[in-house]
Amino acid sequence: MRYSALSIIKNGLTGNKGWKPVWREPDPKQHYDIVIVGGGGHGLATAHYLSKKYGVTNVAVLEKGWLGSGNIGRNTTIVRSNYLLDGNQPFYEHSMKLWEGLETDLNYNVMMSQRGILNLAHSDAQRDAFARRGNAMLMSGADAELLDIDAVRDMVPFLNFDNARFPIKGGLLQRRAGTARHDAVAWGYARSADSHGVDIIQNCEVTGFTIHDGKCTGVQTTRGTISANKVGVCVAGSSSMVMAKAGMRLPIESHVLQAFVSEGLKPTIPGVVTFGAGHLYISQSDKGGLVFGGDIDGYNSYAQRGNLPVIEHVAEDMMALMPFLGRARLLRMWGGVMDMSMDGSPIIDKTHIDGLYFNGGWCYGGFKATPASGDAYAHLLATDRPHETATQYHLDRFARGAMIDEKGAGAQPNLH
Ligand SMILES: Cc1cc2nc3c(=O)[nH]c(=O)nc-3n(C[C@H](O)[C@H](O)[C@H](O)COP(=O)(O)OP(=O)(O)OC[C@H]3O[C@@H](n4cnc5c(N)ncnc54)[C@H](O)[C@@H]3O)c2cc1C
Repeated sequence: MRYSALSIIKNGLTGNKGWKPVWREPDPKQHYDIVIVGGGGHGLATAHYLSKKYGVTNVAVLEKGWLGSGNIGRNTTIVRSNYLLDGNQPFYEHSMKLWEGLETDLNYNVMMSQRGILNLAHSDAQRDAFARRGNAMLMSGADAELLDIDAVRDMVPFLNFDNARFPIKGGLLQRRAGTARHDAVAWGYARSADSHGVDIIQNCEVTGFTIHDGKCTGVQTTRGTISANKVGVCVAGSSSMVMAKAGMRLPIESHVLQAFVSEGLKPTIPGVVTFGAGHLYISQSDKGGLVFGGDIDGYNSYAQRGNLPVIEHVAEDMMALMPFLGRARLLRMWGGVMDMSMDGSPIIDKTHIDGLYFNGGWCYGGFKATPASGDAYAHLLATDRPHETATQYHLDRFARGAMIDEKGAGAQPNLH
């Protein structure tokens, strides 16, 4: 069913009885060409591009819970392509371009809002680093503007400019960045994949892999055994546990990241603002709530809930940057489990087991990557070759010493 102004009017005049379920609820078949493990943003995007772009439609997405129960429905919704390194920037710019056409591609409103991201600089060295990053962005076709302090003041006059613990020296602005409604992204991809024939199977946990003579020929699930020519795993925070079922040990740790939402306020913050001297990113939702987050909790966990010290840390950062928000009330918070790779960059690759593929290690930046990750993973699954923007995301790069250490912060998840 195609969504349009006409279909809204027609259904409005006929008691809204003509709407169809957004996707089917099929029982799993015994065999698929490709089985995707994990119905998060990346799994659903992979199914969409596999079926729509590569014409591979005998595909199942197996999700252990309900669509949107993982990180795709828990993130702070920021999309941007402001990376530095060759291995990353073209990939994230490809993603940004896909975001810009996503609503047309999916015929679904994902509330893409390109309201810009401003990274604040608080030292001369940080401003120099932002100039370098901005140049790398421009060279890959992205947009970037280096702002001096007056331009920052014009844009976000409510920041603490006069008596700040970390004085603001300028900022790096990407105007095409912004936010998108995260669960609508999952629903839009699911709807499109389903309409192209993909079976989306919820409440179906993969409990093991069928592997003989170094070849993966299917999966065992809580709804029976399913055979497949190829199996693509993309389970984000569960990566290590799921790949352990295939006997693999990954260069990934799982950590909790929390997100916070305030009570609804009048329009206050024009885009996304990040605090370069601490770790705070903040934007305002269409409903008026301030949406913000900070560091990972700093200990390994598979629990989707966080702890109090990070709340205190984030509140302190907010007071340092925007003291006028001191009396805003926190409405709710939640946690998600991050698959932190050891260089902060993702993995989209074949494994040493024939027919078994892996996508993960997104740390806390995988939402913005959803379209490009789906496109690149679909390309790999369909052609057995890496997508041109994802040629460096190999699993063995840690053994080879070919890491993509984006922030130059070292191989420690707590620094990414
Ligand atoms: C608080 C928070 C804030 C964030 N903010 C941002 C942000 O602003 N911008 C950004 O770019 N990124 C952000 N991220 C990161 C981003 O959300 C993730 O990197 C990305 O969503 C991960 O990919 P996914 O959507 O496929 O993951 P998920 O939605 O977690 O999908 C994985 C799915 O696999 C399923 N699964 C697990 N095990 C099995 C199994 N055995 N069998 C079947 N299914 C299984 C899970 O149930 C889950 O649904 C944030 C994350 C969090 C938690």
